[in-house]
Amino acid sequence: NTPLHELDPAVAAAVDAELHRQQSTLEMIASENFAPVAVMEAQGSVLTNKYAEGYPGRRYYGGCEHVDVIEQIAIDRVKELFGAEHANVQPHSGAQANAAAMFALLKPGDTIMGLNLAHGGHLTHGMKINFSGKLYNVVAYHVDDTGVVDMAEVERLAKENKPKLIVAGWSAYPRRLDFAAFRRIADEVGAYLMVDMAHFAGLVAAGLHPNPVPHAHVVTTTTHKTLGGPRGGVILSTAELAKKINSAVFPGQQGGPLEHVVAAKAVAFKVCASEEFKERQRRTLEGARILAERLVQDDVKAVGVDVLSGGTDVHLVLVDLRNSELDGQQAEDRLHEVGITVNRNAIPNDPRPPMVTSGLRIGTPALATRGFTAEDFAEVADVIAEALKPSYDAEALRDRVAALAAKHPLYPGLR
Ligand code: PLP
Repeated sequence: NTPLHELDPAVAAAVDAELHRQQSTLEMIASENFAPVAVMEAQGSVLTNKYAEGYPGRRYYGGCEHVDVIEQIAIDRVKELFGAEHANVQPHSGAQANAAAMFALLKPGDTIMGLNLAHGGHLTHGMKINFSGKLYNVVAYHVDDTGVVDMAEVERLAKENKPKLIVAGWSAYPRRLDFAAFRRIADEVGAYLMVDMAHFAGLVAAGLHPNPVPHAHVVTTTTHKTLGGPRGGVILSTAELAKKINSAVFPGQQGGPLEHVVAAKAVAFKVCASEEFKERQRRTLEGARILAERLVQDDVKAVGVDVLSGGTDVHLVLVDLRNSELDGQQAEDRLHEVGITVNRNAIPNDPRPPMVTSGLRIGTPALATRGFTAEDFAEVADVIAEALKPSYDAEALRDRVAALAAKHPLYPGLR
């Protein structure tokens, strides 16, 4: 029972340094969040020792009586949270959830439609060198000149290509999708509709974003983005597809489930049903709106910085740097220099290569979890606006970031 610091000082030191990094900087990567201590406790528990191939009540290993209770709690809670008929809580990640959902519904060579990667889609929605692009015939749809998904194009491509599956969902898109319209198009061409709500699931859980579950055959999500739980995936579906989904996850794609992560998911789903969580998601949205409004002011426009689609309806803002002296990499580095972590992001019709890009994706979920208010987000937004100008004062901006971090301590008492 030697503690980590004694057994492995090298790993312990890096973990400590990472805790310090999270505490002392402002985390604005749109796909990240801070899991509650209770979630991390469940994830770091003895459940990591247990094999449990199968599903509650139908396992291929003995001694599953306690993990059965835990997995059933996770299933029941997530079904209740989103109003789903069926839930599989075993996918190890969002990508695994998407792979399993596609395995359940498709055969290799079938046609799928998804949002183009550079227009905001995810790798698993049909990128060429991802499994989705290798196994299936991919027809990508796009956003139009205003930055909004072009539903006329979706309809035209669906009619022309008769896909077996249409994926609606995104990793970098500042607006809401029209799930009813996607379902109507899917029905017209005999396709399944799969919604990947990985990014906005927390907003859905809080009732602040339309719920895709009533519209889609299958809904996938991660549990660590706006949902604020452990890293992992979930698949929700109609009761009719339950068997297909379950057997695609296990034994189709995975072996033993990570029951320590399943337990952490169960705890996170309990948190997601709380008033505190709703209030946090409200601040998440408010923060993103405040940021978008600051980044379209004249002083920022004057240095060539703009906001894609002109604003946001969700937890992130996409910054357009095509007319700025900074490319995506330089802007990411600039914000890092003042203590704000974001990621560069390709934007539609990006003239620069994917490792450089002409965009930034900036999200508010982690800071909202940290307790940031509208006033704090206004201060963050101003720091970002100033940092993107050629005349920026790094030291002054670092001080403002440090003051915000000190105002909202993260994981106090944790070491
Ligand atoms: N789906 C979407 C829309 C995502 O944005 C992501 C991750 O960023 C994933 C799936 C994949 O999740 P994971 O990284 O857990 O595999």
